[in-house]
Amino acid sequence: LRISDNRALSLASQQAQKDCIPLVVLFVLSPQDYKAHDRSARRIDFVLRNLRLIKASGLLCSLAELHIPLHVISHTPRKSLVPQVVGFVSDLGCASLYANIEYEVDELRRDIQVCEIAKAKHFMTTFVHNKCIVDPGVVLTKEGKSYSVYSPYLRNWMSFLNGNIPYFLQDCPRPRANTDTIYKSKLLNLLFDTHIPIFIPGFELQEEDLARMREVWPAGEDAATKILEQFLFTRSRSSQIGAVDPLAPGAVESSKSSRIFNYDKQRDRADRDTTSRISPYLSAGVLSPRACVRATMLILKSDQVDGSKNTGIGHWVQELAWRDFYTCVLTGFPRISMGRPFLEKYSNVVWESHQAPDSISQGAEDTDEDSEVLKKWKEGTTGVPIVDAAMRCLKEMGWIHNRMRMITAMFLTKDLMIDWRVGERYFMEQLIDGDLASNNGGWQWSASTGVDPCPYFRIFNPYTQSLKADPTGEYIRHWVPELRKLMGSDLHNPSASVADKLGYPKPIVKHDDVRHRALRRFKNPGEE
Ligand code: FAD
Repeated sequence: LRISDNRALSLASQQAQKDCIPLVVLFVLSPQDYKAHDRSARRIDFVLRNLRLIKASGLLCSLAELHIPLHVISHTPRKSLVPQVVGFVSDLGCASLYANIEYEVDELRRDIQVCEIAKAKHFMTTFVHNKCIVDPGVVLTKEGKSYSVYSPYLRNWMSFLNGNIPYFLQDCPRPRANTDTIYKSKLLNLLFDTHIPIFIPGFELQEEDLARMREVWPAGEDAATKILEQFLFTRSRSSQIGAVDPLAPGAVESSKSSRIFNYDKQRDRADRDTTSRISPYLSAGVLSPRACVRATMLILKSDQVDGSKNTGIGHWVQELAWRDFYTCVLTGFPRISMGRPFLEKYSNVVWESHQAPDSISQGAEDTDEDSEVLKKWKEGTTGVPIVDAAMRCLKEMGWIHNRMRMITAMFLTKDLMIDWRVGERYFMEQLIDGDLASNNGGWQWSASTGVDPCPYFRIFNPYTQSLKADPTGEYIRHWVPELRKLMGSDLHNPSASVADKLGYPKPIVKHDDVRHRALRRFKNPGEE
């Protein structure tokens, strides 16, 4: 979904220029895959918005300006997607197909099939890495295996990166325009008229949600670059997400007080915009993660990447490395994307039911109705202010701060003892930045079942977490207006009588009691 630093597009363009043949861009929408992967309507709308911009004429970053037609196929059922794509490519008489690799299991299987059929039809296919900074498969253990622990992965990742800057961080050449004679041909003109749907049936957003998403998460490479620049060059604002225009210029800093310089110290605070909020753009591919690293080198005027934990820039680079790490985990251990815990010893931990008793007795999975407890977690009415604030923010904005993801995920899996897969799915359905590898990684970290997880006995106390992540209380006051008048510890943990008076629910569980249940069940998986 971007023109710059897009390896498949760049390579295809070089080939087209060399052979003096036209370049056509194809984007494939597969609603059945989206359903199967719980992709949120918000993320799909974001993709469609970006597609419209990338196609549009009059913009610098658009395919129309390069006279490159963008053809969009939306195809169901997914079973026949491959012949559909291959048919399109052969009908056009294409000699080569270039694509960026998607690492999820279904997608890999699909693309292998594309390669096989292409071979039979005698056109060339080239699939390239584009998602990560350091490609999966490069950073491996001494035994040549995927890492399952982050720290040694990071050390190795940094030394590979700094040892091969031109290879990993080189900005690939921008695609060149199709020449006049080519783009004016009749065939290509037909393709220029391709229709990009406004929405995909089954994934419609309500008007209000649609407007909010467009305001908070504007589409396009330009918007992504501006959001990144604000993080790099401007001071943190106290405003809550959604309360200010994300593209409004912040106070430009010449000193080192910008958000990125303070990231190591402030990143866990949710009451300020301390992080970049760039994840939707990275997840959808609107922004290149390599461009993010290059930007940090430019700021430091350095030819090496700073990856040390005690600088803001270094710490941020380390977070980008988590994204690479989880993608490598997905490619190295594909079972994690099939609902399996990475640590098999926790596969039979006893979970509380997440279904309403009535829906269990009917025995039909499709009518799967949430239990009261799960409903309260989703709605943000658990009676634990920080959890409720985060869950309401997620529902309204399609995005929450990393620490809020950790607190809510830990609360679901340890305090409520509800299966992490239930939370993983709900997040995917809500998030605008939903990414299988990072979401699964985050959920399995919180549930203590994943690679390099939080140990099961380190259970977050949501009240102490709340004081650290929201010291001013602005986050809770914004998202839980019932508590707006409270200050200090009352806000983070209101007494039963105060909560009652304000119409706020009592906590659905007592943290100090239920943590013992989690400790017991994780210590002896399989036992109640
Ligand atoms: P910044 O702090 O500015 O970090 C910059 C970038 O680094 C992020 O945009 C992201 O691409 C990457 N990053 C940062 N932290 C992590 C991390 N822990 N794991 C992987 N990548 C990271 N991230 C997603 O992109 N999609 C998801 O679906 C997702 N689900 C998550 C679920 C849970 C339960 C948890 C605990 C984390 C999840 N994360 C996910 C990771 C992280 O919370 C978000 O990437 C981050 O909050 C995005 O905000 P930001 O862009 O301001 O991040």
